[in-house]
Amino acid sequence: MQDRLFVGLDVGGTTIKAAVVDDLGQPLSRVSLPTLPERGQEAGLNTMAEAVRAAIGAAGIKLDDVAAIGVATPGSMDLAAGLILDPPNLKPWRNVPVRQYISDTFRKPTAFQNDANAAAYGEFWVGAGKFYRSMVLFTLGTGVGGGIILEDRIIEGAHSHGGELGHIKIEITNGRPCGCGHRGCLEAYASATAVVQRTREALAARPGVSTLDADRMTSKDVFDAAAAGDALAAEIVDRTAFYLAVGASNAIHTVDPELVCFAGGMTAAGPEFLNLIGKYIHDVTFAWPAERVAVRYAVLGSDAGIIGAAGCGRLLVS
Ligand SMILES: [Zn+2]
Repeated sequence: MQDRLFVGLDVGGTTIKAAVVDDLGQPLSRVSLPTLPERGQEAGLNTMAEAVRAAIGAAGIKLDDVAAIGVATPGSMDLAAGLILDPPNLKPWRNVPVRQYISDTFRKPTAFQNDANAAAYGEFWVGAGKFYRSMVLFTLGTGVGGGIILEDRIIEGAHSHGGELGHIKIEITNGRPCGCGHRGCLEAYASATAVVQRTREALAARPGVSTLDADRMTSKDVFDAAAAGDALAAEIVDRTAFYLAVGASNAIHTVDPELVCFAGGMTAAGPEFLNLIGKYIHDVTFAWPAERVAVRYAVLGSDAGIIGAAGCGRLLVS
């Protein structure tokens, strides 16, 4: 069955990416078109279809060769109904019938999935999780995305909001405000944005102790400064590892996965950061699972979403 081909579509606020992916999870083509959500959802749906056609063209295949399509979009969504509801990254789109549109346009079995879940499935299928039967994934970027895969099943939940690991509460008293409108979420402490914000606050509270420039600073700068011996930056990195470990521990105590995986730009911080997270997981988790759970970085990079979306299409015809 190795000749079966799938199309994965990963819809983001900035770009719509598409790829033809083979039965082993290898992309045969990659295309990217601007999303321009402000042009409205009709235009957005047209761009999605255009991206699918472009990926098929770039791979040198025909639509007839495609067994199924998978579409991943940012939430909020109703997975059962195939609808994007009201996603903050795609304003002003509302109640967009994505799955119906793609399946009507191409007459192919079409899967619809949350983008973080799709990325997790990609890592599980052919990435860091390929030798494990269960996995939780944290994607560290502007926010913190999450996905839970158990025995080849994505945990979507009863209301399409399973695996929202970025919004696990890690601080109950005076929690930091989160982009979701609540307080104390993991995302408010451990996203790349939160790392920069926490560093700014530390610099303001302790002026002159760090070489970091509060006005021009990315999370990478903070990690680089920590590696170069900056004590304030090292403290931020240490606490970030601790927060992620608390989030991971909550996931471990909930589903006890074989693998906890971290993806996104901050994973460029290297093995020391991962080891630190692993150490803190030990500190705050039951010993039996803590000693056995694998803790790794993701390996697919920005391909995880398109590969995972294609993999979701593949699950429909497996
Ligand atoms: Zn939140």
